[in-house]
Amino acid sequence: MRLVFLGAPGAGKGTQAQRLAAQEQIPHVSTGEILRESVKRGTPLGLQAKGYMDAGKLVPDEVVIGLVREKLTSPECARGYILDGFPRTVAQAEALDRIFRETGSPGLDHVISFDVPQDEIVRRLSGRRSCSRCQTVYHIEHDPPKEEGVCDKCGGTLVQRADDKPETVLARLRVFDQQTRPLVEYYQKRGLLQRVDATGSIDQVYARLLALVHATRMA
Ligand code: AMP
Repeated sequence: MRLVFLGAPGAGKGTQAQRLAAQEQIPHVSTGEILRESVKRGTPLGLQAKGYMDAGKLVPDEVVIGLVREKLTSPECARGYILDGFPRTVAQAEALDRIFRETGSPGLDHVISFDVPQDEIVRRLSGRRSCSRCQTVYHIEHDPPKEEGVCDKCGGTLVQRADDKPETVLARLRVFDQQTRPLVEYYQKRGLLQRVDATGSIDQVYARLLALVHATRMA
């Protein structure tokens, strides 16, 4: 199964991707996660990306396309994958189509758009915390850890992402509207788009997602 998860920051696509990838035993490929990890380790990629990420801007297409190409052509992605946070621009979507042509891949099965109203997104992002060790994501109201500030899974410290601060959230939402939203039409035209109502609890959204994935599998 080769899927793209599309949606505004805070739409919950990362959380849903983590769960579905574990259930389907396919890799969850999050470009944001790969970039954050590179920043933490101080690699050349991380040094290049940090300034853009802290400002809530997109990292240049050629940088992200290179890392996705490497990932998707690796053996771990042979059985499928969930792409989360890529593509984010029409140029990236075109590059993805090119990667499929060059590698003889049958291409994407579905692009799933996670739809959430903007005021809900701002609330979600401001309460989001993630583990500095294992990256598990929590929400201080909707999905809190058992002990405040401590990861249930590994005991690591929970932190707020630098780009979840209110000023940066607004910049990221603007970027989404201008650069990523056009992808809804891009994939609709190609008959690949499916929409999921991403309001409600994590379990409710996951149930809708599974129903959709199963329905399209039976078709
Ligand atoms: P995310 O975790 O998907 O919200 O991504 C966090 C940040 O990483 C974004 O605000 C961008 O700065 C950068 N990023 C992640 N994916 C991409 C992408 N496909 N293209 C450009 N920048 C990206």
